[in-house]
Amino acid sequence: MYSIYLPRYTIGIDAYRNFHTILRQAGTSCAVYYGKKAWDAAGQKILSALSNAGIAVAAQGVYGHEASIENAERILQDPKINDVSFLLAVGGGKCTDTVKYAGWKLHKPVYSCPTIASNCAPVTKIAIMYHPDGSFREIAQLAEPPVHCFIDTEILAKAPLKYVWAGMGDTMAKHVESIFSARGDTLTYPSRLGIKIGELCFYDILDCGRQAYRDAEKHTVSAAFEEAVQNIIISTGAVSVSVSKDYNSALAHALYYGLTNRKEVDEHHLHGEIVSYGTLVQLMMDHQEDLLQKAYIFNKDLGLPIKLSQLGLDIHEDLHDVLQAAQNNQELIHVPYPVTSERIYEAMKELEEYTGGDQ
Ligand SMILES: [Zn+2]
Repeated sequence: MYSIYLPRYTIGIDAYRNFHTILRQAGTSCAVYYGKKAWDAAGQKILSALSNAGIAVAAQGVYGHEASIENAERILQDPKINDVSFLLAVGGGKCTDTVKYAGWKLHKPVYSCPTIASNCAPVTKIAIMYHPDGSFREIAQLAEPPVHCFIDTEILAKAPLKYVWAGMGDTMAKHVESIFSARGDTLTYPSRLGIKIGELCFYDILDCGRQAYRDAEKHTVSAAFEEAVQNIIISTGAVSVSVSKDYNSALAHALYYGLTNRKEVDEHHLHGEIVSYGTLVQLMMDHQEDLLQKAYIFNKDLGLPIKLSQLGLDIHEDLHDVLQAAQNNQELIHVPYPVTSERIYEAMKELEEYTGGDQ
């Protein structure tokens, strides 16, 4: 037996107006947790929409700075939390995952209001948890994803450009990694469904991504921007909640974990930015010429990394630690053939020479 929770969402410049129909069904009292910047951007709009919907805010506050169990526990310790009907997460992935984790412990439904378009945390049923010092702790498997996600495109368009930029890079990896990890397997219906949806993550972003970037640069909500946002949050989320967890990632993410072993990479580059370099390496290693060319030119056009130096490292330096960590990463346990550090390095070197293929 299994249950699949495909994303439920409302999108538009007036998405919060739907609190009235959707949140009201969940109850008349809630607790709201947010990141500080997110609240500056969305707080007024959220509070007035909740008030218009006749929903009282019994507890509210900044979630903390890290998606940590400690921060989730602070939410759980608030005595007022036991009486609310649901929790509302307002912010980016770390805030959302913290609130999801708290809701799971409390057995209360969670709703999400992303304020940046950078990942699928608002619709998935995993929570990526860190220690208070920022180091990775675990991926918690929750019982349910947020019940409904409210995507206010006006707020997302006003957010810093870098999030949607890196988010598009992370989104394209979803397709490349899921088809690779699943290759050769007999797939269940949910895995086939997820992998099919995953095609949108790549091809839709190729189609709308450049325009979406230009519109986001001007902080303008457009059809292309809305499409990119839906792929970043919803298509990736639909893949995440459908496919076998073996298929969620492969070398692009394994190499991300390897590269972020280096402090300078971790501190100066965004998740999706680093992953998008890993996508190119994976496509090179796997001899996917057509996809490689498309992804490479896209990265080049948008200023996403195409060479290792753009992440602050040199292909000729000793990369043993990076490659070893990538090779040992759990994302490479289920792949169609052994992905060794030698193989990864070979592909990285070939990528240095690559100029975009025959065009
Ligand atoms: Zn990612």
